Amino acid sequence: MTAPEKHTPASPRPATRLAPSPTGALHLGNARTFMITWALARQRGWRIVLRIEDLDTPRTRPGALEDAIDTLEWLGVDWDEGPIIQTRDIAHHVAAVRRLAERGLAYPCALTRAQIEHAASAPHEDAGAPEGPPGTGAAEAPGKEIRFPASLRPALGPRAFDDERTNWRFATPDRPVSFADECAGAQTHRPARTVGDFVVWTSRAQPSYQLACVVDDHRQGITHVVRGDDLLDSAARQTLLYEALELGPPPSYCHLPLVRGEDGKRLAKRHGDTRVARYRAAGVAPQRVIGLLAWWSGFQSGRAPLSAQEFREACRIASIPPGPVTFTSEDDAWLLSRR
Ligand code: GLU
Repeated sequence: MTAPEKHTPASPRPATRLAPSPTGALHLGNARTFMITWALARQRGWRIVLRIEDLDTPRTRPGALEDAIDTLEWLGVDWDEGPIIQTRDIAHHVAAVRRLAERGLAYPCALTRAQIEHAASAPHEDAGAPEGPPGTGAAEAPGKEIRFPASLRPALGPRAFDDERTNWRFATPDRPVSFADECAGAQTHRPARTVGDFVVWTSRAQPSYQLACVVDDHRQGITHVVRGDDLLDSAARQTLLYEALELGPPPSYCHLPLVRGEDGKRLAKRHGDTRVARYRAAGVAPQRVIGLLAWWSGFQSGRAPLSAQEFREACRIASIPPGPVTFTSEDDAWLLSRR
């Protein structure tokens, strides 16, 4: 018997995804995003796909995939499909870049970072200020992306996608992209002014995050994307790719405020060891971690242990305080205080 096609984009059932990158262990910020995504999906009847975003191969850490799954299970998060490993099947990503190239919307680009930075700082270029409201993360694209000015773009026209060992860029149309975000509110971004022509295929012979995200969300029938608000500007880029590839309407978006350290910077190693696995190894119960995440999110009024089921019932996007959550040393001490 042939297995049914799993990734029908026309699937009538709403779906979301958990999309960890196996580049490091899940910290409390990642855990919060995944718990909220899971809780909304279970409340609203969305199918959940676990997708492992391992395309950033130089940064992929051995064992991180297994650790992410183990941590999610420990927290009580479950899913309906996957894990789907991105690097195992890139034929659809290749087809998408080929399509963009044939339609004259993508072109090869061998310029170095220094050459692009030099051109982008030329005085005749637009300032490149993010268009979204302050704090929307528009300027915080992953990997500190630099703006690629349209002045560096070659003449556009239909091309064959004939060189997988060079970067290919999308000819970003210069217009605002607006969407209603369930958590972050009304958004308008103009990717042509913030990042310019962004990479859709990398010289490592792999799709970029932006392209892979769109192709996979479409194939996997994803209708709802819940993730950190550092990706708000990416949502605008992804919307442009949905249009360019004629994939129909993009998913609905819900971008959550990030968890930050006391210095206001996104949670990272300098804030100490905030890996969920560290608390687990120290004997902290999952209910304590979940309780802290719930308090941060406005789902309960103080720090108190909470089960995954209670979190699922209490989760409301409207309760999430606007602005970033700050992880403090008191949070750390509370987690470790009563094991
Ligand atoms: N893999 C990304 C991350 O771990 C998430 C990307 C997305 O949700 O679109 O931050």
